[in-house]
Amino acid sequence: MRKTITVVVAVACAALLLTGCGKTKAAKDAAPPAANSNKITVRYENPTKPEHQKYLNELKAKSLIDRETEYVNRELVFPINISFVTKECGVANAYWDGKSEMSLCYELLAKSEQDYKKWFPNDGADKLETYLESLVLDAYYHELAHALHQLYDLPVAGNAEDAADRLSAYMLTELEPDGVLLANVALHYHIEASHDTDIKQIAWYDEHPVNAQRALNYTCWVYGANPAKHAAALVGDQPGQLPQARAEKCEFEAATNAASWGKLLQPHLRVQK
Ligand SMILES: [Zn+2]
Repeated sequence: MRKTITVVVAVACAALLLTGCGKTKAAKDAAPPAANSNKITVRYENPTKPEHQKYLNELKAKSLIDRETEYVNRELVFPINISFVTKECGVANAYWDGKSEMSLCYELLAKSEQDYKKWFPNDGADKLETYLESLVLDAYYHELAHALHQLYDLPVAGNAEDAADRLSAYMLTELEPDGVLLANVALHYHIEASHDTDIKQIAWYDEHPVNAQRALNYTCWVYGANPAKHAAALVGDQPGQLPQARAEKCEFEAATNAASWGKLLQPHLRVQK
């Protein structure tokens, strides 16, 4: 069974031997969040384009968004009701609207499927399925991070997009410790980075880290969660691998992601421990 957010924090803190990483006195004394029934609701919108229908069908049949939502609703108290919507947006994207709604666009899945098939034309349907599921889960937790930053008025001492990626890394590692999900997200950004062939066309101005950077960040967090298991595959000088100089910091990075997000979310847990 998946660990609760509080237990995860304790494990991460023990691993890092950080002092003061556990509950602060203020947190211990603080009243638990007011019990309320606010929650995330999932809504699947019908697409108008027939080619998007299969994504709706698969998302509904797999129930992975419902499963994660059930987990998050069990763990966290929300100040308002919010929703996670799958829909057609006219663009390959996922986003938090700054009010009460997170969205995952069918176009993002369609584009990701197309790109994956170009890279791996001989892969079976099961690998593509896991790849797309990984991207759905990453989008879910990345957008949830934006929602939580705003709804809980959390401090963002750094790049908010990077912080959102790190919540996703933390949650996906807890969900699937072998790193398959996160490795797929890293692969997604490697594929995206392969389109960045003209250095002048790369969106350096964008608030997101560039694709090549996000690819190696996710690789770092896969490796950092279990260095012994992944060293041979993920550390080296081949494309997609981590140079030793970054690799040696990844275990600390992965643990810090978990400890930092765990600490930020602790006051908002439904059950204070
Ligand atoms: Zn974002």
